[in-house]
Amino acid sequence: MLSLKQISKYYQNGGTKAYVLNKIDLDIDKGEFVSIMGPSGSGKSTLLNIIGMLDQPSEGYQYFLGEPVHQLKEKQRSALYKQNIGFVFQAYHLIDELTVYENIETPLIYQNVKGAERKALVADILDRFNIVGKKDLFPAQLSGGQQQLVGIARALIAKPKLLLADEPTGNLNSKQGEEIMELFCKLNKEDGVTIIQVTHSEKNAQYGTRIINLLDGKIESSSIL
Ligand code: ADP
Ligand code: ADP
Repeated sequence: MLSLKQISKYYQNGGTKAYVLNKIDLDIDKGEFVSIMGPSGSGKSTLLNIIGMLDQPSEGYQYFLGEPVHQLKEKQRSALYKQNIGFVFQAYHLIDELTVYENIETPLIYQNVKGAERKALVADILDRFNIVGKKDLFPAQLSGGQQQLVGIARALIAKPKLLLADEPTGNLNSKQGEEIMELFCKLNKEDGVTIIQVTHSEKNAQYGTRIINLLDGKIESSSIL
């Protein structure tokens, strides 16, 4: 599904390069559920954002679904992202002024999906996620766990091939966190969604099929579960 070859990311610090990622080689196949772990500042979010084409590497070669991402223009990268990737954030990033329904519908509007089809898709995911009764509420009226469910519904509404999640349970209590991890497992096993998450939690990482440990911008270990 994706391949990184000798990917580095650095920031200029005075006259020297401060490397955040240093010559990362990584292949991820369709159907994997990968957890990226490592201490604070080891480059986890940067790696996830590069994989998701939200950030660009300084050096190296990157392929996603066979496309050479390093050769694409901004507009082509953005189209590739919109058609294939869903992103879930630690702090949900829902739009406060929109209802649950409207938040989930937003990606479909950006993709110019017609009204009737939008309605059917949103109704289907509200039903699957058991949040039909919440559809007219605003994010502030929901618990953290419910807000993250909406964030995940929004990330999945356009049926992406790859789901990326940066500390998806970071703001949740352990019960809410478990529910989100169980949902990820189901999406991965039953719906075949490839998932890559950043997590600090060893327990959450164990839900996946592979753990990658980052240290100082390098892959220290990669283990299949
Ligand atoms: P992690 O997710 O593992 O905590 P990050 O990928 O967020 O790590 O950040 C890795 C390092 O990159 C940190 O030391 C951070 O300070 C640095 N960094 C991130 N963004 C910038 C930036 N725009 N300019 C300079 N340094 C940055
Ligand atoms: P706009 O006026 O900005 O185009 P609308 O508020 O009319 O957007 O909503 C767009 C579509 O989404 C319509 O088909 C509408 O019926 C549907 N819709 C919006 N909110 C809800 C909701 N809470 N429950 C069911 N359908 C909704």
